[in-house]
Amino acid sequence: MKITYTIIAPIFNEKENLPELHRRVSEVMDSTHEPWELVLVDDGSTDGSSDIIRDMAKKDRHIRPVIFARNFGHQVAVTAGLDYSRGDAVVIIDADLQDPPELILEMSKKWKEGNEVVFAVRAEREGESWFKLWTASLFYRIIYRITDVKIPLDTGDFRLMDRKVVDVMNRMRERHRFLRGMSAWVGFKQVGVEYKRAARKAGETKYPFRKMFRLAINAVTGFSYFPLQVATFFGFISASVAIIAIPVVALLRLAGTHFFEGQTTTLIAVLFLGGVQLISLGVLGEYIGRLYDEAKGRPLYIVREAPEDQ
Ligand code: UDP
Ligand code: MG
Repeated sequence: MKITYTIIAPIFNEKENLPELHRRVSEVMDSTHEPWELVLVDDGSTDGSSDIIRDMAKKDRHIRPVIFARNFGHQVAVTAGLDYSRGDAVVIIDADLQDPPELILEMSKKWKEGNEVVFAVRAEREGESWFKLWTASLFYRIIYRITDVKIPLDTGDFRLMDRKVVDVMNRMRERHRFLRGMSAWVGFKQVGVEYKRAARKAGETKYPFRKMFRLAINAVTGFSYFPLQVATFFGFISASVAIIAIPVVALLRLAGTHFFEGQTTTLIAVLFLGGVQLISLGVLGEYIGRLYDEAKGRPLYIVREAPEDQ
């Protein structure tokens, strides 16, 4: 059967949210009177979400479960969803109902008007700490400034993509993924729709600061050489200072003054340069580590149970 819509939801310990997610997505999608499927990617849940998903799939043919062998992370889980999707339009949605499924109808309208990527812009966010709001806002603005792709501000992964876009994305097998960047990078006709991001329905965030930080680094390294260029920039600055300072200090010494004496000056210079050098090495290390990961060419994820197994 030809499927019009695929809805993808990555699941990591979301057992409290699954029934409500299923109910709300079904209600919205049934109202379109078009064929749809819900791809639930279980990203190594340990709270029994997998059993609930299997159970739901037995009762409702719309559901296609993809069950991972372990936790591979949100971005990879969504990637698996894209790989298994069959719809002409593919929607990525969070399982915690922070992204209202009802917005899919508006997205689909824009899609039918000829837009190939319809991304949801968070006009307002509810129930999140100021720290999360502040870091998220800073993150989007830094990414916007330093990457080569103009990733729209305040958008998450909640979006609808045309089959053409998904096919291109599925050919991008990079390991450290930043999907919203990739989906902006492909081009095509893109448009945003605004929405109010709700608070998480149940459970806790599965994105602690550590994971958010990694995602931010993936976004930067995946789409820009800026950190590498910063090292070059500091190199030029300190070389220029040296070229000016060496003759000045030498002349002052020859003139018999005692301006630049003692260990303090030396110590400061050594510490500063040592710091800059180590940071630059670290930045190089990040890129090299990524190269190494790509070179190994391991599969992005391992599926324990594919939809066909059900
Ligand atoms: N998620 C996942 N794997 C992970 C972390 C999160 O599949 O390792 C899923 C999670 O179940 C949810 C979505 O990714 O459906 C977004 O996560 P969360 O709501 O915790 O992030 P936040 O909204 O707090 O940024
Ligand atoms: Mg959430």
